[in-house]
Amino acid sequence: MEKDPVCGMLVDPKEAAGQRSHEGRTYYFCSADCLKKFDQAPQRYVVADKPGAKKDGP
Ligand SMILES: [Zn+2]
Repeated sequence: MEKDPVCGMLVDPKEAAGQRSHEGRTYYFCSADCLKKFDQAPQRYVVADKPGAKKDGP
C-alpha cells in the first residue's frame, strides 16, 4: 500500500485513481480530487523524507 499524500489514506497502487511522479518518487491517489489538489501544489503535500534532504544542522 502507498500513502496518498493529500488525504493520508492508504491506497493500493493497482486501484489508485491516479499517480504522479515528483522528485523521483511516485505518489498514488485515492481519488481524482486528491490528484487535482496535488497537481496544484505538490510541494505542499510532499514531505522531504528522502535521504539527503536538508535537515536542521548536523
Ligand atoms: Zn486521497
